[in-house]
Amino acid sequence: MMPSERHATGRSSLTHLACSFCSATYAPDQLTTTCPVCGKVLFARYDLAAAAHAMTPQALPLRPWNLSRYAEILPLQNPESAPTLGEGGTPLHDAPSLARQFGFDRLLIKDEGLNSTGSFKARGLAMAVARAKELGATTVAIPSAGNAAAAMTAYAARAGMPAVVAMPKDAPAAMRAECLAYGADVLLVDGLIDDCGLVIRAGAAAFGWCDLSTLREPYRAEGKKTMGIEIAEQLGWRLPDALIYPTGGGTGIVGMWKAFAELETMGLIGPARPKMIAVQAEGCAPIVRAFAAGATHAERWSNAQTLAAGLRVPAAIGDYLILAAIRESGGTAIAVSDAEMQVGMSLAAKNEGLFVSPESGAAVSAARTLRSHGFLRADDLTVIFSTGSGLMHVDLIDVSAGAIDPHASDLVAVIGARLSSAQKPAGAAHRPYR
Ligand SMILES: *Cc1c(COP(=O)(O)O)cnc(C)c1O
Ligand SMILES: [Zn+2]
Repeated sequence: MMPSERHATGRSSLTHLACSFCSATYAPDQLTTTCPVCGKVLFARYDLAAAAHAMTPQALPLRPWNLSRYAEILPLQNPESAPTLGEGGTPLHDAPSLARQFGFDRLLIKDEGLNSTGSFKARGLAMAVARAKELGATTVAIPSAGNAAAAMTAYAARAGMPAVVAMPKDAPAAMRAECLAYGADVLLVDGLIDDCGLVIRAGAAAFGWCDLSTLREPYRAEGKKTMGIEIAEQLGWRLPDALIYPTGGGTGIVGMWKAFAELETMGLIGPARPKMIAVQAEGCAPIVRAFAAGATHAERWSNAQTLAAGLRVPAAIGDYLILAAIRESGGTAIAVSDAEMQVGMSLAAKNEGLFVSPESGAAVSAARTLRSHGFLRADDLTVIFSTGSGLMHVDLIDVSAGAIDPHASDLVAVIGARLSSAQKPAGAAHRPYR
């Protein structure tokens, strides 16, 4: 084999776009938003027989761990000229201390905080920006709680495209700073993400900005679905028993659910599916409410409030898709309080060395609750999504405990005495929660 072939990736087998609701089909060769007939979400569709021929368990180990690994079932026609920053290929860590504490035989954490710009938004926006560019977009724009804006502006900078973002005026400072650093125009809106969406759609209508809103164009979900493909590959082409996913707009759940169907058609996995578990905030839980009511549509949540910016999404255009994935998989939807999220963050950091975002803390906390209530069993192989890094949220940590003290040498003695007198725990199960 020639050395240059070792890292060869495949070619996209994209064939068309199809509406996820009314099944109308469209050519994939121009910029699109939602279905022109019914206004619902468009999906990219592939020649999966052709894809299966090239994207085999034998071919994949020779490819790099990034999105191009799965090029056959991704939309890019020219992946080699796409703006990339090393997104994808994140670790699936064992979390043995949390597994013992919560009562699981095995618990895994998919560490998406390692993506460029600190969250899994990098996967979707790397794909959406690259695809927008190859279809001729000049300016990209997005409404965002923060992470999506940071990711889009980074890839736009790398692609040499102007970027406009609209964020709630109280979006985390680190994300606002990132967008400005990448040279984007930043609009701070006195409202929530759906208010930001109206601002961006007005700009798109007036100036032809390419609107990369969650599930309002077909390609972000394609980038996000690679999380599901990676997990399948990392587990040796089997799926876990449960996936716990902090859910805002739902791109990840929708994308992974779609990917699992594609992988099954390609013969890479069987018909078994993980229980898809959506975690939301008590102060903004439209999907949880709709799931409990047996509804297929989630009404807008009024007065949405939570410290997890990524979960402060009062209405999701993909509500019917999220709810279908949860129900068809035998999963559930659960709301977590802001206090529980912070406990979850602390548990992941202190027990596993993973400093995670509040959204991820919500997923950790939900894993504990679902296990203790018996919804999940000890032998359910469970994957928790850490969707973003805690480094974007240092304001949530009380740093006064580390204040400068004039009597530091006295403190050394106090800390030394405490640590040497402490009983070495036999296992993390004996440690207190905080
Ligand atoms: C956007 C975001 C979410 C929600 O993701 P969706 O796929 O849109 O539901 C969760 N966590 C973090 C850190 C986010 O930025
Ligand atoms: Zn339609």
